[in-house]
Amino acid sequence: MPIKSIYARQIYDSRGNPTIEVDLKTELGIFRAAVPSGASTGAHEALELRDGIKEQWHGKGVIKAIDNVNDIIAPKLIAKGLEVTEQRAIDCFLLELDGTDLKKNLGANAILGVSLAVCKAGAAKKCMPLYKYISELAGTKVLLPVPSFNVINGGSHAGNKLAMQEFMIMPTGAKSFCEAMRMGSEVYHHLKAVIKKKFGLDATAVGDEGGFAPNILDNKEGLCLIKEAIEKAGYTGKIDIAMDAAASEFFKDGKYDLDFKNPNSDKSKHLAPEQLIKLYKEFMEDFPLVSIEDPFDQDDWGSWTKITSGTKIQIIGDDLTVTNPKRIQEAVDKKSCNCLLLKVNQIGSVSESIDAHLLARENGWGTMVSHRSGETEDSFIADLVVGLGTGQIKTGAPCRSERLAKYNQLLRIEEELGKDAVYTGKKFRYPS
Ligand SMILES: [Mg+2]
Repeated sequence: MPIKSIYARQIYDSRGNPTIEVDLKTELGIFRAAVPSGASTGAHEALELRDGIKEQWHGKGVIKAIDNVNDIIAPKLIAKGLEVTEQRAIDCFLLELDGTDLKKNLGANAILGVSLAVCKAGAAKKCMPLYKYISELAGTKVLLPVPSFNVINGGSHAGNKLAMQEFMIMPTGAKSFCEAMRMGSEVYHHLKAVIKKKFGLDATAVGDEGGFAPNILDNKEGLCLIKEAIEKAGYTGKIDIAMDAAASEFFKDGKYDLDFKNPNSDKSKHLAPEQLIKLYKEFMEDFPLVSIEDPFDQDDWGSWTKITSGTKIQIIGDDLTVTNPKRIQEAVDKKSCNCLLLKVNQIGSVSESIDAHLLARENGWGTMVSHRSGETEDSFIADLVVGLGTGQIKTGAPCRSERLAKYNQLLRIEEELGKDAVYTGKKFRYPS
């Protein structure tokens, strides 16, 4: 069943910035995919091609990437006559067509849009739900993940003073994904009440990923607010805490500035890597903290190795590893972390995303599938996390529909699987 047509158009993401949507037509219908976009992007990510014309969308236009789909990828891929079920052959063809390591010619956003749409068409051709088809492509087990709800937003995702980017709750003590959603939703609303009481109603406005963004400076205070909300909801012991420090964003001249959004921050208060490790250790002692993402700058390799060797909790590479097999291998060799953050647009194709997860797993790491701060209503990553059976996903707070699009799809999948649904719970790091 060859591809009949491929057409890319511009749509808008959850931040109101342009992004790409691709319609791929086969005899079975139209298969549509949209591409997400990050705000705090790793320096080593595949290239998101933007027009860079200041007068248009503040430089964020994607006209060139769209033209690359419509004028280059579409005619060449259709002429090639590959079946939509040949995901790997199609992805390889797209990579060759681009010809660069970081997809600098066609753009990772152009390539990913096509790759995602091909995957959806392939599942339809095989008469399979998308998650099942992905598990077949990857040779992995179908599992329902623990959601990691980002309930307090800081860093580059919020206009508050908080340096660390994400404070998350993980209902590892739930019995099903459905129960995890209930726990997440209840704690989220308790947290709203806690914040309102302490800081007033205007502190309950939300950041890019649906979490609250109270104007606090002390990162520990964020953890205290969450702990209190978990207690109020009656889930102490059933919900763990995870963080994404996104420390590359506040790394300055070899030190870490926890007041980085203040241009006149006090230099004497910037933390040396050793001091930041000490702070993380305090968090681990005082809170049920089970996971820290990007605790250090993306090129501060030594500090990564130090924290990973000195703790049993999950240390996730995001800006460090950028879903790129070369960076993952380097982090494996240096024992820098023990979990991969998997973002499809960091690497730019379905097959490479599968490979990144398999490489992480082979080396004894966990994998957390992730959304981006700029998202769309496309719920592909919900099927991806179930199909790869990685055991954990972060896709924002239980608030804002571009985040709930993924969580709601996971509810549907769990319902469809019925008694065959397995929720990873406490085994979220190494589910299989
Ligand atoms: Mg991150």
